[in-house]
Amino acid sequence: MYKNFKLIDRVVFGRGSFYQLGDILEAQRVGKDSSVVFLVDNVFENSELIDRLPINKNDKLILADTSSEPTTYYVDELTKMVKDYEIGMSVSVVGIGGGTTMDLSKAVSLMLTNEGSSADYQGWDLIKNPAVYHLGIPTLSGTGAEVSRTTVLTGPVKKLGINSDYTVFNQIVLDPDLIENAPINQRFYTAMDTYVHNVEALTGTFINAFARAYGEKSYDLCKEIFLTDIDRREADEKLMMASMFGGLSIAYSQVGVCHALSYGLSYVLKTRHGVSNCIVFDQLEEFYKDYVVEFKEIVDRNGFEIPKGVTKGCTDQDFEKMIDISMLLVPLWENALGKDWKLIITRDKLRELFQKM
Ligand code: NAD
Ligand code: ZN
Repeated sequence: MYKNFKLIDRVVFGRGSFYQLGDILEAQRVGKDSSVVFLVDNVFENSELIDRLPINKNDKLILADTSSEPTTYYVDELTKMVKDYEIGMSVSVVGIGGGTTMDLSKAVSLMLTNEGSSADYQGWDLIKNPAVYHLGIPTLSGTGAEVSRTTVLTGPVKKLGINSDYTVFNQIVLDPDLIENAPINQRFYTAMDTYVHNVEALTGTFINAFARAYGEKSYDLCKEIFLTDIDRREADEKLMMASMFGGLSIAYSQVGVCHALSYGLSYVLKTRHGVSNCIVFDQLEEFYKDYVVEFKEIVDRNGFEIPKGVTKGCTDQDFEKMIDISMLLVPLWENALGKDWKLIITRDKLRELFQKM
């Protein structure tokens, strides 16, 4: 069976397109019971971006705590906050921020219409009811969360997405002005997420013409951005496209070894996704050969340093947990290494890899 891939309904792209938000939301503001919840990364507290939000009388602004990656606990808390406030209202959710806020807003919009805890839905196609209308506005580029059908959550027992067609945003607004002032390190780590998405998609066994078309373009854009003397403004515009295309590529293929290990690493060490990927990918020459050499060149050329020795203080229990989390990600291993992946990926092999990081 081929994937019947759900795309985002609508996309706006361009500098200053953020100003269109009020117009875009008009279509959702039907009747006096309609309301919009703006879930905004708290890094923007007291910023001009907040001043420019089209907030009406019934609406609510929530500043999302993004000091750590999204947890099911926090999603449940936010959902309760919205439900308590918006009783009887027809709600839409607007998420503004990096991948963490994209995922929080996707998850909250799903949990407003699905009972129980978000932890109950970590997995593939477990969501029963469509989400409320949700719109995403990225302020960092690289995760592809703006186009993906997942929201990655750390739950009580696993780090796993809520993967469903209903997770996909109804609308995204891509305004390169919004990513301009991101901290330089964070911009780089998040951008490298896209680079890794492409490598894993293009070298995986699930690859097909659809995923290749997007993945190759995104990979070329990444190289142009980080291996040529491109102007920063042009680079930001291209990075937004690279992120989106990288997301579309993996949506019709899959990620691989780096992501499987990175999930385990960040579950235990609480390192953010972008930096975790970089720490892991740096050690994966055995799997991704020339791409790892190229990645190191990108890191050097742009004057960054990838953290090393991060697992030095880890206990036996920590390594076991990292291995458990990684092993759960069967589709990633199958994509990277084929159906017989278990012949290569043993618990000892994973421990050896984690110990190198
Ligand atoms: P992030 O959203 O975690 O943000 C990192 C830091 O940058 C935060 O402190 C945030 O406040 C700050 N920040 C964001 N935008 C800023 C801006 N414009 N200016 C200044 N500071 C800014 O980072 P990310 O790398 O975009 O997202 C990582 C998250 O995305 C992880 O939780 C990961 O699991 C998730 N993810 C999701 C998918 C998906 O398909 N759903 C894919 C990959 C990663
Ligand atoms: Zn990723």
